[in-house]
Amino acid sequence: MGRGEATGAGASPFDDLGVAVGEGEPLAHHTWLGIGGPARWFCEPVDAAALSRIVRRCRERAIPLRVIGGGTNVLVPSAGFDGMVVRLSAPAFGAVAVERPGVVAGAGAKLVHVVSAAVQAGLGGLETLVGIPGTVGGALVGNAGGRGGDIGDRVAAVTVMLADGEVVERRGAELAFGSRWSNLDDVVVLGCRLDLDEEDPDLLTKRMQKRWIVDRAEQPAGVRSVAMMFKDPHGATAEALVAQAGGRDIRVGEAAVHSPRSNFVVAHPGCTSEDVRMVIEQARGRVRERVGVDLALQIESW
Ligand SMILES: Cc1cc2nc3c(=O)[nH]c(=O)nc-3n(C[C@H](O)[C@H](O)[C@H](O)COP(=O)(O)OP(=O)(O)OC[C@H]3O[C@@H](n4cnc5c(N)ncnc54)[C@H](O)[C@@H]3O)c2cc1C
Repeated sequence: MGRGEATGAGASPFDDLGVAVGEGEPLAHHTWLGIGGPARWFCEPVDAAALSRIVRRCRERAIPLRVIGGGTNVLVPSAGFDGMVVRLSAPAFGAVAVERPGVVAGAGAKLVHVVSAAVQAGLGGLETLVGIPGTVGGALVGNAGGRGGDIGDRVAAVTVMLADGEVVERRGAELAFGSRWSNLDDVVVLGCRLDLDEEDPDLLTKRMQKRWIVDRAEQPAGVRSVAMMFKDPHGATAEALVAQAGGRDIRVGEAAVHSPRSNFVVAHPGCTSEDVRMVIEQARGRVRERVGVDLALQIESW
């Protein structure tokens, strides 16, 4: 369906909601890879009430809705997304508050800000997540983490918005976190409460700084337009498997596997989403053929 077809020229299904909705926003502006086509509709609601009106309208009109967080883990095709994309950039969604023995964080907050707020307050348990880019929302949905643990280990409750715009809290047995996966498939994740441990702030700061240095060394240096391709399989790293399969030299158009950080794909200037997708497919295929491991995708294709 082409732009404007559904509603007629000048009208949008969101016009009467009192929420600023843009059309044709380039999602390349919101992804770490710096690529991706336009969102048919795009909005950054000021609060949960405005968000709820948008969510309800999308359901009434069967308009697909996606949330974009930091855009560090999404690959948007050049054709863009034919629906509504919401970004929780307003202050109402980004608050971080220490509530001992834990923190309460909005989904729009940067994960690194939550980690440093906890460390400063002498609350331990998140410091190993310091090097993970993106927002709290994205981290919860994908259970972000690494060798030191996952965010899901610390989640006490998650607030979500359902498709009818209602806000509910999920806790205990309603929550499941696995390997870079969660059962948070509600329309919008709004925030969470994380249970942490009282610890010495100086020790925590040292641990966090050490972790930061290790993470930096394990990520591609000097390039910004990167994405992590695969989840680490049990007992191995995707980086080692891609290297073992001879995948470090894969390049399609302006996208290439990063060397030596071979679980990352780099988008060079002029790169398209399709270049990136093909690099990922080729790397996955080579690992399957030469090492016999079927790697699961980390990055999510829209
Ligand atoms: C250099 C680099 C290093 C990385 N290192 C790690 C690492 O060590 N460990 C790790 O786990 N990951 C890592 N990642 C991947 C990525 O940073 C994480 O997956 C991150 O948690 C994604 O957060 P985001 O806010 O950018 O989410 P996005 O990429 O914006 O979105 C990811 C998914 O979450 C959904 N989503 C986001 N916010 C919400 C919300 N509020 N409500 C509902 N759905 C939402 C999106 O729709 C999308 O499906 C790395 C990525 C890069 C580029």
